[in-house]
Amino acid sequence: MAKISINMKTGEVDEKEIIVGIDLGTTNSLVAYVHKGKPSIVKDNSGKTALVPSIIHFSEDNDIVVGETAKQRLVSHPERTIYSVKRLMGKSHTDVSNYENLLSYEIIDEEDKLVKIKVGDTFHTPINLSAEILKYLKKRIEGHLEKKVTKAVITVPAYFNDAQRQATRDAGKIAGLDVLRIINEPTAASLAYGYGTKDSEPETIAVYDLGGGTFDISILKLEHGVFDVLSTNGDTFLGGDDFDRAIIDYWATQNSEMAQSINEDKSYGQAIRLRAEEAKKALSSSDQYTSEDGSLTITKKQYESLILEIVERTISKCTEALKDAGLTTTDIDNVIMVGGSTRTPLVKEMVGAFFGRKVHDDINPDEVVAIGAAIQADILAGNSEGYLLLDVTPLSLGIETMGGLMDPIIQRNSKVPSSAGRSYTTSVDGQKNLKVSVFQGERELVQHNRKLGEFILSDIPPMAAGIPKILVHFVLDADGILKVRAKEERSGKETEVTITSQYGISEEEMGRMLIDSMKNAESDMKIKALLEAKNEANSIVLASDKFLIQNAEILSDEEKEKLTALANDLRSVSQADDKDKINLSMKNLNDYSAPLAERAMNYNIKKALSGKTV
Ligand code: ADP
Ligand code: MG
Repeated sequence: MAKISINMKTGEVDEKEIIVGIDLGTTNSLVAYVHKGKPSIVKDNSGKTALVPSIIHFSEDNDIVVGETAKQRLVSHPERTIYSVKRLMGKSHTDVSNYENLLSYEIIDEEDKLVKIKVGDTFHTPINLSAEILKYLKKRIEGHLEKKVTKAVITVPAYFNDAQRQATRDAGKIAGLDVLRIINEPTAASLAYGYGTKDSEPETIAVYDLGGGTFDISILKLEHGVFDVLSTNGDTFLGGDDFDRAIIDYWATQNSEMAQSINEDKSYGQAIRLRAEEAKKALSSSDQYTSEDGSLTITKKQYESLILEIVERTISKCTEALKDAGLTTTDIDNVIMVGGSTRTPLVKEMVGAFFGRKVHDDINPDEVVAIGAAIQADILAGNSEGYLLLDVTPLSLGIETMGGLMDPIIQRNSKVPSSAGRSYTTSVDGQKNLKVSVFQGERELVQHNRKLGEFILSDIPPMAAGIPKILVHFVLDADGILKVRAKEERSGKETEVTITSQYGISEEEMGRMLIDSMKNAESDMKIKALLEAKNEANSIVLASDKFLIQNAEILSDEEKEKLTALANDLRSVSQADDKDKINLSMKNLNDYSAPLAERAMNYNIKKALSGKTV
């Protein structure tokens, strides 16, 4: 049933719930939405800025303040004010130990291995802290729309791994948001510029993203509505903060007294830092900066000579990214500017010069990712037809069967929601437990695919091998959540698990898995055929052993010997890796045993009948 709600502000009937787009940034976060095809960014109450500094402050009584107000406490309460949590998402303590000393707050190594942040006596996970930022954004947009918002698309850097994506998803959940998609920031930026529609020609895009403390360059291939990340590169410790520092250092070398005060007085240092940022921003649109009291000055020329080397470093990363993608600058159709620091004219000039074309910066570089997220959200809401909605499962989902084979249950490119099942049985007499291991990928052997989880169907009543009928059923819902149920049909014994991590995979990784499967298709098929022959050989040998014992009385010694010899031969060739030999040996055994089996059956029927008293 469709939900209908009335927007109290406009009086309009909204038939569809708005799904919001969120750019959860290292320095700043934003929330945006699309209304009637038009994206808009939600600003603060004053209407001045849409940027919410990604900063969380905990007061002495653990009241939580987020955003601009929290930023102001950075100077007065550095140890209770947390910034750059995005750097800690999905990270273990060892992952971050090399930059721990750069943070003004305390991080803790706990037994669960994931990093925690200590504020006073309380510990916070990066997930919980990110959730605070998301809650703030949720509240902001709910205030603006005057209605509840529960669904969102959140962006992450293209290089974010499974754990980092899952952590972001979890943060959304804690904030009361159902995260329908996690999408890559460069993909969002391309969407904002309208690239990659279903009918457009294939194009190659470079997304240059210089934020507050991080630099990312991504090369994307856009084809038939699919956004493929060809390569990413960057520096997780290079950004606008370095520009600020360059200005501070410049002022400090000119004024030794100031240099000393910066070192001795934290809040003075922070105040100078804010002046430096102000100067930097001013120099994005004028040739000269003078502070209000006239004490600090810098010209655009001077500033540009200070940051030249930093910008050059980003350019060399662009060279590496192109090389990894196997491309040259002439292969790039469009270059997009993302991140507040690309407002710096020198950055635009140098990037434009490197790629040999004018860069795109018409959309505010610090808003473009959030706008793209909102557009993706609108596509998901079913409001946009120009884009192909990737509502298919990108990789096959299946379980491990005997010999480590992948048995796909839901095939790649199946529409979601989707469900499918298959029957299995046990391979050993009296088998009580069956392990169900769930994998994702296209390779024939599970060891080359990605494990999503496993569980055990236990307490299967004792039965001979092959008798239990175990139905493994997969249900993949529209949000990509997979439910796997295993049920022993004869006893009704049943176990179910829910697996959510399948979207934790980056497009890049997904592409690699697909390419791998194609490259290895032939050898995989051979291995698969061999393993299947071995599995079959195994069960035939077991059946033949059983047959010998159960029918000893009707078999001659010669027959027994011959059968044992053939079974032994099969047993030994199935240890080696020659599929044809296994099949031949299997045929020999089958051919010899078939008439014996028939005789045994007749005998058993007769015996059963004669035993009957009429
Ligand atoms: P992130 O993606 O890391 O959250 P943003 O894209 O919001 O960061 O970029 C923040 C950076 O952009 C800060 O270093 C800020 O000083 C810088 N910045 C913002 N406006 C300007 C401007 N007009 N000129 C130069 N740099 C700017
Ligand atoms: Mg950003």
